Amino acid sequence: MPAIAAHDVTDRLAELARFTGRGAGVTRLVYDEAWCAAHRWLASEARAMGLAATADWAGNLYLHDPAVKPGHAAPPVLMVGSHLDSVKHGGRLDGAYGTIAGLLVAHASRGMAGLPVVGFVSSEEEGSRFHGGMMGARSMLGMVDERELDTVADREGITWRDALEDARARGCAAALPRAPFAPLFRPAIELELHIEQGPVLEAEGLALAIVDRIAGYRHWTAWIEGEARHAGTTPMRLRHDALAAAGEMILAAEHAAGEAGEPAVATVGFARPSPGLFNVVPGTCELWLECRHVRGDDLEALADAVTRRWREVAQRRGVRLGLEEGPGQPPTALSAALADAATDLAREMRLAHRRMASGAGHDTTVFAQAGVPTLMAFVPSRAGVSHSPDEATDDDHLVTGVQFLAALTRRLAEHTPR
Ligand SMILES: [Zn+2]
Repeated sequence: MPAIAAHDVTDRLAELARFTGRGAGVTRLVYDEAWCAAHRWLASEARAMGLAATADWAGNLYLHDPAVKPGHAAPPVLMVGSHLDSVKHGGRLDGAYGTIAGLLVAHASRGMAGLPVVGFVSSEEEGSRFHGGMMGARSMLGMVDERELDTVADREGITWRDALEDARARGCAAALPRAPFAPLFRPAIELELHIEQGPVLEAEGLALAIVDRIAGYRHWTAWIEGEARHAGTTPMRLRHDALAAAGEMILAAEHAAGEAGEPAVATVGFARPSPGLFNVVPGTCELWLECRHVRGDDLEALADAVTRRWREVAQRRGVRLGLEEGPGQPPTALSAALADAATDLAREMRLAHRRMASGAGHDTTVFAQAGVPTLMAFVPSRAGVSHSPDEATDDDHLVTGVQFLAALTRRLAEHTPR
């Protein structure tokens, strides 16, 4: 297996970061100019290394030995990669790091015995242009319904279908096949290397996390209805202030998550009081609530605790509370067997490591929910910063992560029968 050198990783990450829209950090929204340029660059990089670069209809890229042909006759493969898109003004590592790792590991694994290794670059994970929900990974696994092409649209009203046509014209997606959309490769194992996006590894002085769970979340939109009254003439004791009630609810969510203990988190990320004037007691307020946890029962208990307290606040203050739950995601367990194999390897390589649950969702969530044995590994994020231009990881950690992934891939591919 050819060794992966430090500059193989760091030079390519620097190159990939050049493909970005205007402003600070990296902005690569799926199918936009910068995204397409990055897609083409990755494909040409793979070809220069002797790999085939195959795009599918959704703009996912597969980097593989030319001898391994895509299509339904293809053998099961070990897939390793991450996503190419970013948030607006995000960092240079989220997603990008895992795609470069996928490229290098696919190259290093060429001609190895056992499962063929395919690097993947998923087209869309962040949801920053379309709210289709992990459209990249879902399309890789044949989990897209043709109707979504017309129902999923961005802010400007451009549908997924139209955006794809545009991407095809620029050479960043293959022709749309006849539905149902079959996958090009069948993953027997999926691995994703990512930055932690949190502060734990750095705080504990560790080089690596083996991620065996991905947190689930539940979302609610809440409507609080009080009474809009003159703010000068309505005594405090006679008010039903919707925004004051909202304030108490926000703090109640914070307390409930604090009492549940880590890794429980609850967040109110949006509040809109109305009518929003100096001289009117707020009559209504809209809130967006999110609860996350890594275990299903605990997520349930957290959600119950928060919503029970909110109802108590509403009752005491004489305001009405409407709660509407939106789409959520259950907590997802990754493969325990792969996590054990990765832990053994980390020990053998003398890497300071720990097990960890991911608070954020990833492409891997989709693979795991589709029944594919999956595993993620994290490297430290400096100060835990992510989804920001300040996102950074020490070069040593970046290189170690890819070398670990390459060794793990080799071990798993060799020990899994074709
Ligand atoms: Zn990511």
